[in-house]
Amino acid sequence: MKKSDRLLVNTYATFLVNPSNLDIVEYNDYAGRYLSSEKKKISDIIYWDKSISKRIDFENEKKIIYSSRSKTDELELIVVIQVVNYHDVSYYNVILIDNLEDIKDFESQSIDDDISSNGLFTNIFQYSPIGLVLVDSQTKLVRANKYMFDCFDLNHRDNINEGFGNVFGCSTVSDTGFLCGQHEKCQTCKLRNGIDKVLNDKLTMEGVDLGHDFNINGRIVTKWFTISASPVQYGDSTYALFSFVDITQRVRMEERLRELGITDALTKLYNRRHIIKLFEEALLSDEHEHLSVALIDIDDFKIVNDVYGHLVGDEVLILLGEILKEQLRFSDCVGRYGGEEFLIIFNNTEMNTAKVVLERIQKSFREKSLDILDEAATFSAGLTQATIKDLKSDNTMNKILNLADKQMYRAKAMGKDRIKEAVYNEE
Ligand code: GH3
Ligand code: MG
Ligand code: MG
Repeated sequence: MKKSDRLLVNTYATFLVNPSNLDIVEYNDYAGRYLSSEKKKISDIIYWDKSISKRIDFENEKKIIYSSRSKTDELELIVVIQVVNYHDVSYYNVILIDNLEDIKDFESQSIDDDISSNGLFTNIFQYSPIGLVLVDSQTKLVRANKYMFDCFDLNHRDNINEGFGNVFGCSTVSDTGFLCGQHEKCQTCKLRNGIDKVLNDKLTMEGVDLGHDFNINGRIVTKWFTISASPVQYGDSTYALFSFVDITQRVRMEERLRELGITDALTKLYNRRHIIKLFEEALLSDEHEHLSVALIDIDDFKIVNDVYGHLVGDEVLILLGEILKEQLRFSDCVGRYGGEEFLIIFNNTEMNTAKVVLERIQKSFREKSLDILDEAATFSAGLTQATIKDLKSDNTMNKILNLADKQMYRAKAMGKDRIKEAVYNEE
């Protein structure tokens, strides 16, 4: 038997009683005056006969209320008994009301309300520095705290009884007339699957980072949260309590840093390190047989800088970057390999096809550069093709790059503004 202010929160003497032997398991502050060392059972405190136990409704948790007397001082009492369930075990919650005027007030309140209306706990929930959400067994939101509503720029609501996505504006269901969980996309929604696991399998979820699109004030915004959850048994029902920590800013910052780490600042193409990494990955890929590689070098770029200045030179580099992005396919990769040099990996592409693409890029570069320069800018390119399944040596990438470089210098030597190619064969 222990004193508890956890569950038995009300201003009446309240006892949690083991139904099989009537032992008092827990009691609250107000119950102390009825207790002494020899009074360990509820039947030591009030008159309790078998007919009372028979009247108690285990199924529906309905209250039974009757008048009795305290065995301590023979004063009249109103006894309220209800079955409650904590962690799958049923108890009698026994409340003794000794001021008979109070019974009217008491009738209008349920025991649940006694527990949840306790100001301290309501405030802890409401003003918690992390988001808290209570979901019922039908996956409907029962409660969410201020942090959650603030995250989505919504006004706080107390009684919710709607799906998570409908309350917080999931982009899949909001404004579409769908209920959260009913759209076909909901089947793959990680948040929804998490809720199901916690409710059905009674599993906990620990610090899972999830991103999801929400409609916030008419704009679709991806928000990221670290989410934890655990099942909560209350009465007969299972709820799931979720905590949400908004990590959107951190995730955006990480994305930005990752982008900066792989992007060339001037042309916004991949930087040298990343295009080489992509080349290495392409050589290891077993998704295709061939790849073609091109090294592009702008002709007489030093003269462009000398005549027009460095800033105009930069504009020409940016222009070629834009043309490369525009003309290449999604499966191709392109990066700035050096000052005025660019490396293209044409995945799953034979040299002849790559050459046609390069010629198109050449033409576009000539034409568009005339918006910046008085004379058309040109480039020379060395192109090579490798058959991936024939590659054996560790140093293949460098050998292919050397061959492409050689072809590029051949193009320069032959008068620039041209493409020279050779197939790579491993000896
Ligand atoms: P070639 O036709 O033989 O390739 O002659 P080139 O003048 O293009 O070659 P060179 O290697 O002599 O000169 C390359 C020039 O590219 C020199 C360098 O200042 C310029 N360059 C490199 N990076 C940048 C850059 O970021 N901005 C500008 N404006 N110029 C750059
Ligand atoms: Mg060069
Ligand atoms: Mg050059």
